[in-house]
Amino acid sequence: MSSSLLSRIRRTTGFRLTARYAILYIASSLVLFIIAYMLLSGVVREQDRKLLREKVNEYAFIERSRGVGQLVDVVRRDTESDEEPDYYMRIVDPAGKELLTLIPPGWKPLPSNLFEGKSEEHTQWYLWQPPDTHDFYEFAARRLPDGVTIIVGGDAREREELLAQFQRIFTGITASVVLFGVVAGTLLSNRTLAPIRDLIATVRSIDLGRLDARVPTRHTGDELDELASLFNAMLARISTLIAGMRDALDNVAHDLRTPATRAKVGIETALQTAVGEGALREALMDCAEENERIMTTLTTLMDISEAETGTMRLNMERVDLAGLIEECAELYEDLAQEQGITLVTDAAPGLYAQADASRIRQVLANLLDNALKYSRPGGSVLVAGRQEGHSVAVTVRDDGEGIPSQDIPRIFERLYRGDKSRTHRGLGLGLSLVKAVLKAHGGDIRVKSAVGNGTEFVFTLPGVAPVAPVSA
Ligand code: ADP
Repeated sequence: MSSSLLSRIRRTTGFRLTARYAILYIASSLVLFIIAYMLLSGVVREQDRKLLREKVNEYAFIERSRGVGQLVDVVRRDTESDEEPDYYMRIVDPAGKELLTLIPPGWKPLPSNLFEGKSEEHTQWYLWQPPDTHDFYEFAARRLPDGVTIIVGGDAREREELLAQFQRIFTGITASVVLFGVVAGTLLSNRTLAPIRDLIATVRSIDLGRLDARVPTRHTGDELDELASLFNAMLARISTLIAGMRDALDNVAHDLRTPATRAKVGIETALQTAVGEGALREALMDCAEENERIMTTLTTLMDISEAETGTMRLNMERVDLAGLIEECAELYEDLAQEQGITLVTDAAPGLYAQADASRIRQVLANLLDNALKYSRPGGSVLVAGRQEGHSVAVTVRDDGEGIPSQDIPRIFERLYRGDKSRTHRGLGLGLSLVKAVLKAHGGDIRVKSAVGNGTEFVFTLPGVAPVAPVSA
């Protein structure tokens, strides 16, 4: 493995997490094992020393009560009856003169300086291993108040072998724990970091142009899952914005070409053929009209795009819808009269919505404009408002020509115009704008229509409770 790859691995969060986790796990296991071994070996040693301690206490008692001479006699008698003494025994007088030494058969010779300077008033313990052997001898030494020193020794080989065995088992377990710590740490950090790796892979894909790439979510409900969901939501929003911009651009390119071409042809024709101020003026007026159409189309397309992508700035306030309906109806009253159409309103006061008043005015104007445009002389148009649960619903109904059923699913599309509507003025953008603006408000619009029987649009907006009258 190259050194640059190694250093890259070492810098990864996965490696660092694993290392930290493994170190913590191993260190705490080691501490636990060491404590357990110390406690266990302490218990075993204490058990083993019990006999030696009892012997020392017994001989100390005899020496104190009957003198050192008697003690030597008692020990001799004890060991003579045993023939083969199990214990090492040594009694030294206060001057350091050896009064008795008994060495169990089979013991390796002890060095002469083994007990040099090792006599204290409380029992002292010494463990000695004869060089190049597996034997262990343990001694308990005690100096009595009159200066006599008693040393009792025993074979500790079995016990030390048992403890060595313990050590080997503990070392084996520790090694397995270390291995398990590293493997489990790697697996765990791998699993934990999988969502981050997915996120990185998604960002890389997007960087390479795959804009539809999304982070897989695991539905675990944890923070990383939430991050993935938020990231996907952000990507979806960006995609919508991009798609909206692309659509708007396509529409602009498509729809502006016609009036722009008409204006160009008009100017060229006027320049080549028009004679006199009147003809030029007419050509200029045609141009101004086409220009106006271009400007309106552009503004409306931009408005739709903003409303659809959620970037339209809405000045939300408590809007008196009944008032707004009356106001719009008044504006269209003259046009209705001109066309011989009766315009009726029906909205009880106290109908309020949380909305941008100027945008809702635009919605109402578009729907009213269409209702009058597609009505027949002698017909009637109704604009009504009512409460519908927590929403307010506004109906714009006409008894005009109606919409063919195959057109209904398409009327809210940008630039869509019904075949029969081509004889009427219009851009095919009114209903798209209406729907986008209502959606931006959290509202919606539905339509019911039958050819020859008129059309009914009903739009809804989130309602607000009317302000309670202030009592005098
Ligand atoms: P336009 O500028 O053509 O009116 P709109 O987006 O406002 O564009 O409407 C799209 C199409 O829906 C119209 O071309 C027409 O065919 C149909 N339409 C809309 N409103 C009505 C209505 N009140 N009665 C009949 N047809 C309608």
